[in-house]
Amino acid sequence: MSQMDYTKAKDWIIREKEFHAKFLGKCEAIMCLGNGYMGMRSSTEEKYTAEKRDLLIAGTFNKFDENEVTELPNGADVAAMDIMIDGEEFSLNSGTVKSYERELNIKTGELCRKVLWVSPKGAEVEFQFKRFISMKQLHVIGQKVVIKPIGSDIFVKILTGINGRMTNNGSQHFSEGDKRLYDKTYMQYTQTTSQSNITFVFTSGVKLMDEREGEAGFHSRIIMERRTIETEFQGTVKKGEALVIEKLTDVRTTRDRENEGKPLKEICEESLLSAKELYKAGYESLVRESAKAWEEKVWNKVPVKIDSEDELDQLAIRFAQYHLYVMTPAHDNRMNIGAKGLSGEGYKGHTFWDTDIFALPYFTFTDPDIAKKLVEYRYLSLPGAHEKAKENGFLGAQFPWESAWLDDGEVTPVWGAADIFTGLPTKIWSGFIEQHITSDVVYGIWQYYMVTGDEEFMERCGYEVIMDTAKFWITRLEPGDDGQYHINDVVGPDEYKERVNDNAFTNYMAHWNVEKAVEYHNELKKNKPALFERLNEKLELDQIYPLWMERKDAIYLPKPREEDHLIAQDAEYLSLKQVDLTKYKNQKQVGSMFLDYNLEQVNKIQVSKQADIMILFLLMEDLFSLEVKQANWDYYEPRTLHDSSLSLSTHCILANDMGQEEMAYELFQRARAIDMGENMKSSDEGIHAASLAGIWQSSVFGFGGVRMLNGTLRINPALPKKWSKLEFILNWQGQRLRICVTKGSFSIVNETGTKVISFEHGTKIYQLDKKIEIIFE
Ligand code: BGC
Repeated sequence: MSQMDYTKAKDWIIREKEFHAKFLGKCEAIMCLGNGYMGMRSSTEEKYTAEKRDLLIAGTFNKFDENEVTELPNGADVAAMDIMIDGEEFSLNSGTVKSYERELNIKTGELCRKVLWVSPKGAEVEFQFKRFISMKQLHVIGQKVVIKPIGSDIFVKILTGINGRMTNNGSQHFSEGDKRLYDKTYMQYTQTTSQSNITFVFTSGVKLMDEREGEAGFHSRIIMERRTIETEFQGTVKKGEALVIEKLTDVRTTRDRENEGKPLKEICEESLLSAKELYKAGYESLVRESAKAWEEKVWNKVPVKIDSEDELDQLAIRFAQYHLYVMTPAHDNRMNIGAKGLSGEGYKGHTFWDTDIFALPYFTFTDPDIAKKLVEYRYLSLPGAHEKAKENGFLGAQFPWESAWLDDGEVTPVWGAADIFTGLPTKIWSGFIEQHITSDVVYGIWQYYMVTGDEEFMERCGYEVIMDTAKFWITRLEPGDDGQYHINDVVGPDEYKERVNDNAFTNYMAHWNVEKAVEYHNELKKNKPALFERLNEKLELDQIYPLWMERKDAIYLPKPREEDHLIAQDAEYLSLKQVDLTKYKNQKQVGSMFLDYNLEQVNKIQVSKQADIMILFLLMEDLFSLEVKQANWDYYEPRTLHDSSLSLSTHCILANDMGQEEMAYELFQRARAIDMGENMKSSDEGIHAASLAGIWQSSVFGFGGVRMLNGTLRINPALPKKWSKLEFILNWQGQRLRICVTKGSFSIVNETGTKVISFEHGTKIYQLDKKIEIIFE
């Protein structure tokens, strides 16, 4: 029987209807709370062996030691509460659970759990636990617990505080700082990361009340031990009455922009002051204010409405948006999105192409101020990219496959999962040779520019990145005997093919990257000579330009074969051994092939982890005919296991482009289920950031048929059978467009209305002034 319940879709609720102590990761991650500044897994107040409690603050990377890569450290825990009822520990592993439910309301960002529990000795108690991280005040975590005895008076003991004993799977990133209790109410704890020297300051105020907000009359005692500060409360709660506990915490760090150069003492004082304000304001008013911020910043700003026979479709898109805002550090351009957001330690908080190709487009098309922060991050991390290029003997900027702090350069770990045959860890090649990331970054920047028209960003950052990366590519090329330039020994998007030559996606994207550099070089030289000169001086363009011109058209670009239109994913793929993949195509858990083969063997079989040629078709669709796309789909899709969560949304959009509407919808549903599904293990390490953004892409780029094609907006919608309406917001050239698609028509209202927008539909170009309606077949 299913533990999850998504039937309260209309109420924006993700619900867990049963508790199993061995499946905690799922709800910890998919119900994770946050605001882009910090994210907290929704672990329960009481502790369980299989739990993973995490509080992650964006951009606070620390390197535990020389043998480990930098990662987001797991900050102190404030959510835990040990509760004793008549001397017995409250735990769902003991006594009787008469009723249970946990709900995340994605509209308000509030988590709520209700339990009716009978202790082993027979005390019946109703518990309500509520929690939020404020969308309004970035530094605030709020908690409320209501304890109500049903049958008889109970004696309650509660222990709660700030616990700095948390680790990242055993790596303790912090040294202990000061602990202090102020005014017998506010606990303050500081901890400092061991290598990056960032101090986290936590101040928690705990308030105990009766139901009418009167004094609860509990006795309290402060306890300070190694790396913890806690308060113990005890007292009696009478039958029929209730004990209300509010714990309001302020969290800040020395890394916060506003704290740069500030003495720690001052930050601690400000934190204490804030905690006092929070205490005064109380949980309910703070959660209301946060819900209002969610409404203004997200739900009213970027509404997406889907009228579907399956209500989960609407819930899925909102769930995706919820997480996109929880994971994205919109407040600071020195940080970026982690592959698991702020919902778990998976991928160590590092940024991948998941941002540039998957998550960034959401913000580019809907919330460009946030997109700007994300592309600025890439610009600011050029020093690391220079370092990487230089280490490898190339010119220009080579972006790291995994990225953390701005000047870190490459942070991909070198060793990964065990090889089932040798028993040795498998080498992770991505950090060395998954080089397409460099042009993915450029693609994200260019798309941002084309969609927003943000010339200021381009002049300050964008043009420079495009040309600096083209310097890398042109020196990275290897001349072949055929007179062409090749890109050998890489990992393409399909990570089941390592150390390949001429990966089609990599080569096409590199070529495109250089072409763009040449185009902007010429344009700036002609129209913006001062800017050109500045860049020329910085990047030595006069020297590199002849090389670009000499080599760019000689870059080897694998063409569709005449006989069957197939494009070779890489030089060897089409001649590799073929095996029956049925078992793995029908797998319940991703990666099942590794129970039978090791990576070396997988490398030699025609099997793909994820979209590779397909993502090329998505980004460069006008280079390939429908016939070519179809032929390659028919060949590669059956060989693709979708073992990366990035794969399904790309396939969904392409299926739609090729007119395979049923297949597209099926893929959408599969993508939807990666986090918001029944698999209780798939989200343990954290939610899948790119896949969630892919839900939006599948809806808007896929069924909504929206694309930016060479600077033109194109809209060719095709709704799935079950959908009668899709309504969404697009930001195009500073204009807010409300697009409403039904089965045979779509309308666009320009809500800003200060510019005429032209767009393409079918084979025609239309002009949109204020409103337009188009009827189609
Ligand atoms: C995928 C990559 C992705 C990474 C982080 C890997 O499993 O193959 O494409 O960037 O996960 O999500």
